[in-house]
Amino acid sequence: MAGQVGFHVEQDRCIGCFTCQIACKDKNDLEVGQRWRRVEEIAGGGYTRVGEAIRGNVYAYWISISCNHCQDPLCVKNCPTGAMYKRPEDGVVLVDERKCIGCRYCTWSCPYGAPQYDPGKGKVGKCNFCLDLVEKGEEPACVAACPMRALHAGDLEELARKYGGTSAIKGLPDPKLTKPSLLISPHRHAVDK
Ligand code: SF4
Ligand code: SF4
Repeated sequence: MAGQVGFHVEQDRCIGCFTCQIACKDKNDLEVGQRWRRVEEIAGGGYTRVGEAIRGNVYAYWISISCNHCQDPLCVKNCPTGAMYKRPEDGVVLVDERKCIGCRYCTWSCPYGAPQYDPGKGKVGKCNFCLDLVEKGEEPACVAACPMRALHAGDLEELARKYGGTSAIKGLPDPKLTKPSLLISPHRHAVDK
């Protein structure tokens, strides 16, 4: 593996089934309330009256999101112990549990809400890109589990060449904050003005 790795999400394929979220919880044996990947619905639009008729213009789409292994990660910058760090070889952002003192600065710094404080352990955990699987040539658990094949993981430049996409969509923070390694082929309402 060389270069920055990341995720691609094909939003029109995502049906909001939560399989990726559950596969991640299962793989990482996460307690209730701990979500290293989560699926959220964004809904908008409304109804207008046209004479006697009601015209509908409502929409909904899903965002499947985890840690984005950002290229400018605020979680790493604001971790006082160096527990949160970015691997130089592939840009994966990891937590060294031995150094984590559970201060939660990373949870407050991350605009994506990715790091999860585990009160049982007194430590923070988050997506580790399923490195144990990836290093064996397998896909991360969320990617492998998605029945709609809406998720992809790999070298970010290759993902961009293959699928294109953007990390600036309605419902997510401004990507200038952390430069997320996330590409989304957006639902049309996720990018309309
Ligand atoms: S498993 Fe796939 S289709 Fe289901 S919520 Fe996750 S990304 Fe969407
Ligand atoms: S998504 Fe959040 S936790 Fe993950 S690297 Fe970016 S700032 Fe850090």
